[in-house]
Amino acid sequence: MKAVVKHKRGYGAELQLIDIPSIKEDEVLIKVKATSICGTDVHIYTWDEWSQNRVNPPYAFGHEFSGEIVEVGNKVQDFQIGDYVSAETHLVCGICPQCMTGQYHICKNTKIIGVDTQGCFAEYVALPASNLWKNPVDMPIDVASIQEPMGNAVHTVLSGEVVGKTVAIIGCGPIGIMAVGVAKAAGASQVIALDLNDYRLELAGKLGATVMINSSKTDPVRAVYDLTDGNGVDIVCEMSGHPIAIDQGFKMITNGGRFSILSLPSKPVPLNITDDIVFKGVTVQGITGRQMFKTWQQVSRLLESGQVDVKPLITHHFPLEEYEKGFDLMIKGECGKVILLP
Ligand SMILES: [Zn+2]
Ligand SMILES: [Zn+2]
Repeated sequence: MKAVVKHKRGYGAELQLIDIPSIKEDEVLIKVKATSICGTDVHIYTWDEWSQNRVNPPYAFGHEFSGEIVEVGNKVQDFQIGDYVSAETHLVCGICPQCMTGQYHICKNTKIIGVDTQGCFAEYVALPASNLWKNPVDMPIDVASIQEPMGNAVHTVLSGEVVGKTVAIIGCGPIGIMAVGVAKAAGASQVIALDLNDYRLELAGKLGATVMINSSKTDPVRAVYDLTDGNGVDIVCEMSGHPIAIDQGFKMITNGGRFSILSLPSKPVPLNITDDIVFKGVTVQGITGRQMFKTWQQVSRLLESGQVDVKPLITHHFPLEEYEKGFDLMIKGECGKVILLP
């Protein structure tokens, strides 16, 4: 089968012909219909410090997809050939203290599809049935593919009360843009999108941002105070990972606010804990993955009901063979979600 393979410890990837994976008793084989490029894949592609310490080439990477089951292991009960599925990308152990208490998303032994195991930038992918999510039959394949990152947005935004609150989304990559749509759907009174990239701010506007602020042109902290009667925002969703933006986030949040961090800053970030967290009584949350499978249910229903329309965010489709075009756009930030079609 065709697959985009992280072929060596260095920049880039290669289209190769590799064996179709064989399945274990508790796994299914899926024919991939659509797969999308994630920021994580860009880290692996560009071979940054994180990926140098994490991944072991050669292997096919990629983790966001939708597809059809074509083979089912002996022990699989709830899925059949022909089922239209996507998948939770965290492979969890089921036996650590977190898993034992239902907190699978923070399993101590998490492995990630396409990072630690063979991924879905390929014609077929083999996965444990316990990770699958059945899609509504009429959900478009590109929309179904981006449910996993949308789950990150949903998990971040909905980790506290939203209705009637003012929300700042810092960092409008695809997940930040989806977070805008989710905050809007959840009843936020204002959704303020902040980024340095006008193209992506425009996409945030299409998903329902009430104000877009380019932090390289306008002082974002002052702008947010002006928009909130001098109070600051109730909720900050940090999706940028940039130390300056994070500091600005703590400056623009109101006393008693919620600061939810999904981003992965590449280095430790200095914080003014005394003034910006303790005296302000701010709640800081780390957000990882998606709650299994509560978040998937929320994502599926938000999409099916039309409460969040992600179509404007899906800006490019390429055949799998043209993966380089997709990665170039992602690296330049001149796209929303990029879909590859095997
Ligand atoms: Zn992803
Ligand atoms: Zn576990």
